[in-house]
Amino acid sequence: MFRGFQTRPQTPESMNPQNASPSSPAGQATTADLYDQYVLGNYARAPITLVCGRGTRVWDDEGKAYLDFTSGIAVCALGHCHPRWVEAVQRQAAELVHVSNLFRNPNQGELARRLVKKAGPGRAFFCNSGTEANEALIKLARLHGRELSGGREGVRYKIVCARQAFHGRTFGGMSATPQEKIQGGFRPLVPGFEFGELNDLAGFEKLVDDETAAVFIETIQGEGGIRPCTGEFLQGLRKLCSERGALLMLDEVQCGIGRTGRFYAYEHHGVVPDAIGMAKGLGGGFPIGAIWVREPYAGLFKPGSHGTTFGGTPLACAAALATLDVIESENLLEHVSAESVRLFAALESVRAEFPEKVRAVRGLGFMVGIELAVEPPPVIAALREAGLLCPAAGGNVVRMLPPLNATREEIDEAVAIFRRVIAAL
Ligand SMILES: *Cc1c(COP(=O)(O)O)cnc(C)c1O
Repeated sequence: MFRGFQTRPQTPESMNPQNASPSSPAGQATTADLYDQYVLGNYARAPITLVCGRGTRVWDDEGKAYLDFTSGIAVCALGHCHPRWVEAVQRQAAELVHVSNLFRNPNQGELARRLVKKAGPGRAFFCNSGTEANEALIKLARLHGRELSGGREGVRYKIVCARQAFHGRTFGGMSATPQEKIQGGFRPLVPGFEFGELNDLAGFEKLVDDETAAVFIETIQGEGGIRPCTGEFLQGLRKLCSERGALLMLDEVQCGIGRTGRFYAYEHHGVVPDAIGMAKGLGGGFPIGAIWVREPYAGLFKPGSHGTTFGGTPLACAAALATLDVIESENLLEHVSAESVRLFAALESVRAEFPEKVRAVRGLGFMVGIELAVEPPPVIAALREAGLLCPAAGGNVVRMLPPLNATREEIDEAVAIFRRVIAAL
């Protein structure tokens, strides 16, 4: 079914409808036509075209409004078009956008300072996505292994990850992601990845040996179905890695940047990792990735050992700085912590009402996984029809990833829609 641009979306007062309803470059073709003909078919996309957003709401090209609990997959931390974020990006776009990493720029220095202040003594490196952040971590592990082997490569190079993990789509990230739907068709993969069961410390103890350079896990598995590491597991891994000289590297691409009510999700468990990968929420919608590396391991990267043309541009860092500013000035960590209690309680009561349909509610803060007894796609579609956008995850899970500033009323509205859709199943 094709949908045209002809109908004007019902946009907020402040929105210039001109911007909301761009005319198709091909003149007559609808956006659906253009996707069908010209966009690579590597996604099973929902059949709607989104044209404008404000806060927790987005509008499609037929004027229908949705509560956006996808947030661009945990990216739009401040919702859509937060005025302070828009102002910062507009100002920076008119000032200086890109200079490359051959030169310094003030925003990258300041953003590095802010991230290091939150994680502890160490250094940051900036890239453009989650998988790039993880690629840098994987390379860090290799450099660490070489250092431990007296400069010899290929001796201590293994990285132990978790089953059901998701670390991205580049060869490094994909090799750390033991799922057939992601790896299938692309072998041979990068060698040296081994996999243990999440939260099975004894299993990881068996895998970490004198060939292991690092343990690399998501603090809360996202794509795998919102599966949190237990505190005991993370603390055990910290001890294990310290004893055996392996790095503890945490993928906080989805769970970091305030999503759980702490800036980094591992802060709930009183551990300090050796390196962190982040991206998604960091730019509040603008593409940016980063790693933080603890001293003394930050010194493993020497001039020329890694790089990126785009990483850490003045514009990307301005977007990230504005995101961090709003998280702080609007007390969004406290807001997430407080409102998520209510969200989890409400979803738990839906589960108790329909135990044959809703198996479990998991997660932390505004990173919520609802495990269903049925496959998610028809439920996701029914939620969308009812005005709520939620992404699926592995293991029959529907995710709720509201922006960190979603209001109590928006959360109640989303839960009410979810309950109606579950009741009608
Ligand atoms: C999304 C995600 C990635 C990949 O990020 P991209 O920006 O899509 O490359 C890696 N790790 C985790 C935990 C993620 O959720």
